[in-house]
Parts: sequence; C-alpha cells; structure tokens
Amino acid sequence: MTRDLNKLVAEMTLEEKAGLCSGESFWRTKGIERLGIPSIMLTDGPHGLRKQAGEADHLGLNKSVPATCFPSAAGLASTWNRSLVQRVGEALGKESQAEQVGVLLGPGANIKRSPLCGRNFEYFSEDPYLTGELATAHITGVQSQGVGTSLKHFAVNNQEHRRMTTNAVVDERTMREIYLTGFEMAVKQAQPWTVMSAYNRLNGEYCSENERLLTSILKREWGHLGIVVSDWGAVNEADASVAAGMELEMPSSSGIGSAKIIQAVQAGRLAESVLDASVERLLGVIFRAADGCKEDATYDQDEHHALARETARETMVLLKNDNGLLPLRKEAKIAVIGALAATMRYQGGGSSHVNPTRLDNAVVEMSKLASLPSNVSYAEGYELASDDSNEQLLAEARALAAVSDVAVLFIGLPDRYESEGYDRQHLNLPANQVELIHELAAVQPNLIAVLSNGAPIVMPWLPKVKAVLEGYLGGQAAGGAIADLLFGEANPSGKLAETFPVSLKHNPSHPYFPGEGDRVEYNEGIFVGYRFYDAKDIEPLFPFGHGLSYTTFAYSAIEVSRTEMTDLETVEVAVTVTNTGERRGQEVVQLYVSAVGSSMIKPEKELKGFAKVDLGPGERETVTFTLGKRSFASYNPELAEWEAETGAYRILIGRSSREIELETAVHVVSTIRKTPVYHRNTTLGELMAEPRTAPILQHLQSMAPQSAEPSDAVSADMMAAMMRDLPLRALLSFSGGAMTEETLSMLLEQFNAAVKE
Ligand code: BGC
Repeated sequence: MTRDLNKLVAEMTLEEKAGLCSGESFWRTKGIERLGIPSIMLTDGPHGLRKQAGEADHLGLNKSVPATCFPSAAGLASTWNRSLVQRVGEALGKESQAEQVGVLLGPGANIKRSPLCGRNFEYFSEDPYLTGELATAHITGVQSQGVGTSLKHFAVNNQEHRRMTTNAVVDERTMREIYLTGFEMAVKQAQPWTVMSAYNRLNGEYCSENERLLTSILKREWGHLGIVVSDWGAVNEADASVAAGMELEMPSSSGIGSAKIIQAVQAGRLAESVLDASVERLLGVIFRAADGCKEDATYDQDEHHALARETARETMVLLKNDNGLLPLRKEAKIAVIGALAATMRYQGGGSSHVNPTRLDNAVVEMSKLASLPSNVSYAEGYELASDDSNEQLLAEARALAAVSDVAVLFIGLPDRYESEGYDRQHLNLPANQVELIHELAAVQPNLIAVLSNGAPIVMPWLPKVKAVLEGYLGGQAAGGAIADLLFGEANPSGKLAETFPVSLKHNPSHPYFPGEGDRVEYNEGIFVGYRFYDAKDIEPLFPFGHGLSYTTFAYSAIEVSRTEMTDLETVEVAVTVTNTGERRGQEVVQLYVSAVGSSMIKPEKELKGFAKVDLGPGERETVTFTLGKRSFASYNPELAEWEAETGAYRILIGRSSREIELETAVHVVSTIRKTPVYHRNTTLGELMAEPRTAPILQHLQSMAPQSAEPSDAVSADMMAAMMRDLPLRALLSFSGGAMTEETLSMLLEQFNAAVKE
C-alpha cells in the first residue's frame, strides 16, 4: 500500500513526532490512533524468537513463548553455508509472523576481537568478509517473510566489560577494514530494515549520538534506507541522537526522551525538518512491518526442529580425528561421560535466550543410533555447577570408561563462564573437567571430546584425546546433530570462523583488552585474528578455516579469466574440487588474496571468497569466484577511499587459512589518479620513483652532496640507498652552496607542474 508519509508527518503535532521517536513499552513502538499509525513489536533475536508475553527484560531473565532455538551465530558461521543460513532466516521470519513480531533483533555482525568477549557466541567471525556474507544471508531470509531485522551492534562493540560507557579508540583504516566492512556488506546487499546503534562510544562519541557513523557513513555513504534503533538503553541524550541520525529510542524512556526532543526543537537546537525526516523514515518501517504482517500465520514446529538439526550438523567442526577414530562403530560399547551430555549447553545467556519448543538429549539420541541402545552408557563425571572435583563421580566415570571400547566426553563452558553482560577472564575449561580428561586417559586410550562452548578454549590436554568435535552452542537439536556426526549419519563439514590460539597471550588484542577504565585502544590495528597469527608466524592451536571431514578432497585446475585488470573490472577464478574418499561430504573452498608488494602495511592474506560444495564419492565440481576492486583494496585514510594499488596480487585457494592448495596471480591497475604535492621535505627517492619528475631530477646531479661519490667504504648501491631518503632541503646544506632557496622554490614549482599535467 502506498501512503504519502510526507503528508502524514505534516499532520502530526510536535508532541506526536517527538513521541514516536521512543518506544511505547519495552518491545513496542507507539501507535497514534487518530492518524492510523500502528504500533509494531520488536523482539530478540538473533537465532530464535524471544517474545516475552509477561514481564519484559533485556537480559533473558523471564520466560518467553516457545520458539525454535537454532544454533547461535558462532556455529552458523562455521557452516560457511549462505543458503542454509538464509533458510534459518526464513524460518525465523515465519516464527516472527506467527507471533506478530514486526522486527527481529539480529543478526549481530561485530568482529571477534578477543576470544574473551562474553558475547562472541552471538557474533559470526573474526573476519569481516565472512561476517558480511552470512549477515546478508540471515537478513535476506528473515526479510523474505515480511519481517524486519536489526543489524547490531553498530559499531565497534567488541566487549561486554563496561559496555555502556566504554570508548573504543580505533584508527580509521582499521575501523573501515575490520569493524565496519561486515556491516557495510550487509547494509548494501540486504538492506536491513533497522540497524541497532551500540551501547559504547566510538572515538569519543556514543554510537547513538555519532553523526559520522549514523548519517555520513550509514545513510549517505552506504545508502541505508531503513532506520537506526538504539540498543536497549543506549541513548545518552535523546535530542542529540535524533540530530545524529538515530530514529528510534528503545525501550520507552517514559517521556524523558520525547521531552528533550521537544525542548531542543523549541530552543532551536534541533531543526524541526531534521525531526520530520527522522519520523518519515520511522513511519516507513512501521507501515512496512504492519503491512507485511500475516494475521493467520503459523509454522510447523517439527519442520523447524528438523531444520535446526540439519543446521546444527553443519555448525560443528571436527578439529581432530587421529587414526579415524570417528565415526563410531554402531556395535561399539560407548561410554558417554560428562554432565554436559545430560544437561546440554545449547545456547548462550542474555537477550538471545530462547525458550525452545523441544530439546534433544545427546545420550538418548546416541542410544537411538547405536545397534543396541544398551551399547551407550552414561556417567556424570563432574559437577556442572562447580569447578571442584568430585571423587565419587570421577570413580564412576573411570570404571565405565575402563570397560568400554571408547569414551565420549562432553565438556565445555558452563553458563556462568560466558554470557552477555560480562567477559571471560581466561580460556580454560573448569578444573574438574580437565582433571576428568587426565583420569580417563589413564584407563581408556580412545577418548573423544565433544565441546559445548560459544568461543575458543585452550586445550593443554589435547594430546590426551584422539578426537575433538567442536559443537559450539548448537541450539535445541544439538543433541541429535552430535549423535548424527559421531555415528557418521552426517559428515562433518564445519570450518572454524575464528582462530583457536594455543594461549590467550597469543591473541593480538591481549595486552589491550578490555582497556583501562572506559578507554579501550585497538592498538593491534588491522591485525585481528588470522591476520595477526600469519603476520607474526604464530602457530595457532587450530587455524581460521580449519575443519576435518570423514572423506577427503583434492583441489585442481585453478584458472583465472584474465591476468591483467583495472580496478573497475572483475576477474573470475575457477577451481575444481573432487571428493577422493569413500563418503559423501561437503567441502568449504576458501579464497584468500595476498598483495605481492604494497606501499601500505597489509596482512599476509585476506579471505575474499568461499563456496561450499556437496560431493558424493568420486564426484567433482568446478566452483567460480568473482573478484572486484574490494577484493584487492585497502582503505586509504588520506584519500578517504578504498584503493587497490597497482601491482600483483596472489590468489590462494585453500582448505583452511594455513592449508593453501593452489595459487595463481593477477595484476591490477589502479584507476585512482593521485596528484602528489611536493614540498621541501619530499625525498629524492619519491621524485625518482615518479616518471614525470625523475627527468627534472637528473639536472640536479651537479648539486649532489660533495661527498656523494662511491668510495672503498661506501658502494654505489649503498650511496643510492642513502640518497633515496634525503629530503630536497638537505641539498641546501650538502651541495656546497650550489642549491639556493630560490632554486629550490623554482624546482618545486617544476615538480608540481609536471604532475599536474
Ligand atoms: C542487547 C541487544 C538486545 C536488546 C533487547 C540489549 O541488552 O545488547 O542485543 O537486542 O538488549 O533485548
């Protein structure tokens, strides 16, 4: 239905307009009956619906209506499967429709700067490209159902510690390349109806009052058509937020926000036209949600549970599998040990906490797949509620493991270790779980660890276990999915979307995280995640992109559609993948770009493409990637532009960031015309490197420093190297009077004229 929103705004009083800019309640916008403006509901998000029918809160304290709990984003990212994430989005959209929810609060696109961040389970990756692609898929899926999304938390919100006051201090290039790119891709590719402004400050200003972020970058540069909604309680001063480009304050501030907006307009501090534009955008989203609402919508809980199980299988990452211990034989006597098997940790704490429609139990699901249910026995092993050892539980677990063919240990992080609202202090498992591993290793050589956790842990105990399945927080069907993978009903295909370090201290943000008081400096710059481990040659425990399968894949026949291109053109890269094993399986083909020479500091390689292929034994498929300017570019803060410098770029194809199988190269020519400005302190080297100024410089040879003759002590090469960094004005001192101020000025004019033509 088309409406004249401009006209509608003109009919509204100042009070009504200001009123609309903050919520009616915890989850709803205000309706204005006399003008036919409906009220819509916004609800968490991101991987399941948390619609609270009773008392509202933003910490997941009170129960919500039953909804399918899908795997959280850390797991979704490990699928590297755009279409699967989109299907999850569609299911979330359908559930939102069935509950009359207009906007689902997610996905979260913040970068995993440190594995300590308590909310990493809700974020996709340490890599911006992977983040952007999967956030796009999620948004596209939800919005296809006529329900909006809220891309959050915009921006540079990478820790929970002091999250409402902290000031993230980050340089422009790092902000653009690492922390904003995922948002930018999702906004441009999927147009989320809303973007949620984060709690924290960014370079001194609250994100909700940050005009540069919300208006210059989000609206003008990226062309966002929707609205900005504040994170719950993220508004500092409501009038400043409206001025900066934030349309909706949530939850209701009980009239405080509206009063400030009215005062600001009346005092002339806020132009009413700015408020009008804001309200018009807001109305656009409100009507879109109301018009999209399907009154009688329902969804099939069984179908969504099946999708949750299918998805969970792909989220899990087989990290280690010595001697092919997995998959399990169905006839084997299997000891399932660990409280986390019976009390699964399948989701994280906080605002994303879902009340599931049902819950798979791993022990039960494993018994169903074993040839005899009695082949699977369970022992608790440790107490989930404490870190202390329990001798009796240990003894029972030892006894069971000793008489079994294999022991599957369910270990991981208890709820109290990681949640929204606070960060972790270390990367260790609880001490009683580590003790259990050592005790069992003494009686049973075939140990398999199944992990439930939202973010990396360290594994000093790794040599004690033969196999490790990283289960992440797999949602309500995690128990079934784990059983499927352990018994080979499904073939693991997840790959890590983040680096697992050997030690917390290896993480690049380590000394700076979580900052001093309210100030956190992002001193590691662009070297986040694998970009850092590569640059420093630090061997991770498990690298970005790593994940094993029960089959094997071979890579061959890399081809590029061209070897020379300008930054306005694209290149296609094709590669063939063959399943060389005996089982059907999926492989994630990863494409990284590596600049050969650059005037900018660059990571060794960066992910710029990926594709997931599904192949039966002996089958092969050719996958094609398209690379354009952004695949080669860095953000140049001086130009305030993305720049793919002229030069050669290696294109690397790998099964992980550390297992590169094939490579080729392409030469890119930049079309950015830079006009350098030369001055007294321009170096001779810079002038020699520029073909238009080099000939002029030749004339200066007579003025070279008198001592600039090769000698026994200084070779011609050494001399050239020393001269290269000499600024022009040094010739005043070193040319024995041949260079005067007048000649220098004249020369500078010539140099600058030469590059202007
Ligand atoms: C969280 C958001 C969430 C909101 C509403 C906030 O505390 O940061 O992610 O959407 O609460 O529950």
